[in-house]
Amino acid sequence: MSIFNIDKKINKIIGKEDRRTLDNLGKRKFEFGGGIDFNHKGVERIEVYRGKTDELDLPPDFEIGYHTHLSGLVAPSATDIHSIMASPNQQAEIIVGPQKSLLIIKTQKFKTWYNANKNRLDMYQHQHIQKYKTKQKIAIAWIRFLKSKGLLMKIYKRGVPIKFGGVRTIE
Ligand SMILES: [Zn+2]
Repeated sequence: MSIFNIDKKINKIIGKEDRRTLDNLGKRKFEFGGGIDFNHKGVERIEVYRGKTDELDLPPDFEIGYHTHLSGLVAPSATDIHSIMASPNQQAEIIVGPQKSLLIIKTQKFKTWYNANKNRLDMYQHQHIQKYKTKQKIAIAWIRFLKSKGLLMKIYKRGVPIKFGGVRTIE
């Protein structure tokens, strides 16, 4: 499964209406976040919390977390990665910006790498910040680095339904 692709065997869709909700939260002046819960038909519930969402614990039956980035840059911080990896039932995270969102799906390959490297993750992020000149370049290189370690990531433009596989429904 190491070459598993985000688009393969699509079994989850965040449709236009739910996407509009997330996009609108991404335009607000406060940070928002929460969980997206699926049943076998699709999205069942979206939780909305206002405020810093770094350490938000999702209920055990929520498959996906999301949070907004006020900067508009949707690359995950090292803190984001730590928090995603700390909740075992969470399988994916969406980072929502005003113009685009980033879907991140955990994989076994990344879990293995993370467990061996979690103490170095902040340092790796810092190295990217030092090496690249602009925030945009840092974000691109950092996303490429995390992908190379096994994290699946895909950017979706505003308004476009988010379709993906690799996430199972938790009843
Ligand atoms: Zn974040």
